[in-house]
Amino acid sequence: MQVLHTIRQWRDYTQGQRDAGASIGLVPTMGALHAGHASLFGEAKSRGDVVVATIFVNPRQFGDPHDLTAYPRTPDDDRVLASEHGVDCLVEPSLAEMWPDYPNPTPTTVTVSGISELLEGEGRPGHFDGVASVVAKLLVVTGPCRVYFGEKDFQQIAVVRQMVRDLALPVEVVPCPIIRDRDGLALSSRNTLLSGAARHQALALSHALASVTDHDLYASQARRVMRERMQDAGVQVAYADVVDPITFLPTRDDEQGERRALVAGVVEGVRLIDNARIVVAARRD
Ligand code: AMP
Repeated sequence: MQVLHTIRQWRDYTQGQRDAGASIGLVPTMGALHAGHASLFGEAKSRGDVVVATIFVNPRQFGDPHDLTAYPRTPDDDRVLASEHGVDCLVEPSLAEMWPDYPNPTPTTVTVSGISELLEGEGRPGHFDGVASVVAKLLVVTGPCRVYFGEKDFQQIAVVRQMVRDLALPVEVVPCPIIRDRDGLALSSRNTLLSGAARHQALALSHALASVTDHDLYASQARRVMRERMQDAGVQVAYADVVDPITFLPTRDDEQGERRALVAGVVEGVRLIDNARIVVAARRD
């Protein structure tokens, strides 16, 4: 596995691979790698891509400076995990390489309006501008055929898809299923920040989702049940919603069919998210 740090080296590597006829699969990450990230590497490998993974803790997508400094960083372990899971090239660009103006604002921002202002975007203003801007740059430098994202960050995929469509970027966005611990907790780099008690509380997110999926509930019932499950466990609820999986607009009670249930909450100061497919019933009265 190659480990690269500069845009120059990274461009040369991917250009060389394309010249040799390879298809490139890009997996953007913020490091502190776990089995969720490994599943993305595996999916890219199984499709025959040369796998380029990036590790960059992007300050532009963090609103809270404490969240940024507290974000886990495990570079040595990350290299081992990446090389053991089929990554061909691991790119660890510096902050100066990615955002040369930082800590001053970067004048260029990619904004996907609409979806970016809802749910995660509502609680974290500017978050998806940071995500869209960094993903646009990673795509431009890498030039992949496919880019892989986890459904753990379901709204992020919708933002990236919209950007790819609007800018006609020549890349396929590949969504990958959420990988969970045996007890149901969605794997997340932030889980390592939780104490044993907080980790137990955090299970309320996946339990809340499990208690509404495939239970013949109206959207408003599902929202209430999820919120109560999380509150009962002591989770500070950011949102518990049922939305259209494309537009992210809230589902009305007289609508039925496949939707997405999404939850977010704060446990011991750590913000966690999770989501699941849900089939809602329609209210007829
Ligand atoms: P992150 O390093 O948290 O920015 O995540 C990098 C990529 O890994 C994103 O596309 C995430 O959605 C994905 N990812 C993170 N956790 C999981 C998980 N538990 N299952 C599947 N994909 C995940």
